[in-house]
Amino acid sequence: MADQGVSAGQVYGSESGTGRPQRSLMDAVKRGIRGRCPHCGEGKLFRAYTKTVDQCDACGEEIFHHRADDLPAYLVITVVGHIVLTLFLAAEIWFSWTSWQHLSVWVPITLLMSLAMLQPAKGAVVGIQWANYMHGFGGNHEELDTHPELSDSVVK
Ligand SMILES: [Zn+2]
Repeated sequence: MADQGVSAGQVYGSESGTGRPQRSLMDAVKRGIRGRCPHCGEGKLFRAYTKTVDQCDACGEEIFHHRADDLPAYLVITVVGHIVLTLFLAAEIWFSWTSWQHLSVWVPITLLMSLAMLQPAKGAVVGIQWANYMHGFGGNHEELDTHPELSDSVVK
């Protein structure tokens, strides 16, 4: 495993984060995939389909400062695209389907797989960010250079 054999005093997240305890990446990703808080694994991570809770109900871990952005969608597109394209090409070789038959099979499969995978993928990405003390998960509030008008409200 990649996270083994690392000394306890290793710096994570930023130069101001020395001495932080190591967080298990695998546990955090598994909890995220199950839709649970990456810290405790008990509280819910999502309040709606892909809307995360602001804070864990069970342990109080702040979730709102994750920056998953469009990485979950990118991962889902990559995975679903490879699976569906492979199956499509296999079906094209093995069967002689019409275009309508292909459409009636692959469009629903693509939609269902994508919708089913988006929430677990987002949970996994939030888990990765939490385990690595990324963004606000290290206790440092970020100032976003692209939104200077928000800097007063972000730094507290
Ligand atoms: Zn929690």
